[in-house]
Amino acid sequence: MLTMKERRPAIRTLRGWAISVLREVGAIIECDEHGWMQNRTDPHARERALDIARQDPPPGFSADEAVAEMREILDCIDDSCPECPPEAS
Ligand SMILES: [Zn+2]
Repeated sequence: MLTMKERRPAIRTLRGWAISVLREVGAIIECDEHGWMQNRTDPHARERALDIARQDPPPGFSADEAVAEMREILDCIDDSCPECPPEAS
């Protein structure tokens, strides 16, 4: 039986992998000033990231797990940095 100890670092790795893919395709960006992740809500970038998850999931994970992780990240990341003033001009 798999223990929690073995499972936890794997989940962190999956999340790190998903975030790096999402950044690579431009689905999310990091605020230069504050470091918050922002969802660019770009459907094409999102599709590309999900394609990568489906076709090339990280070692040890199924395509379903990789896709689910990406969806979860996209769902919980806001489309603006919480610390940047909105529409500053
Ligand atoms: Zn910011």
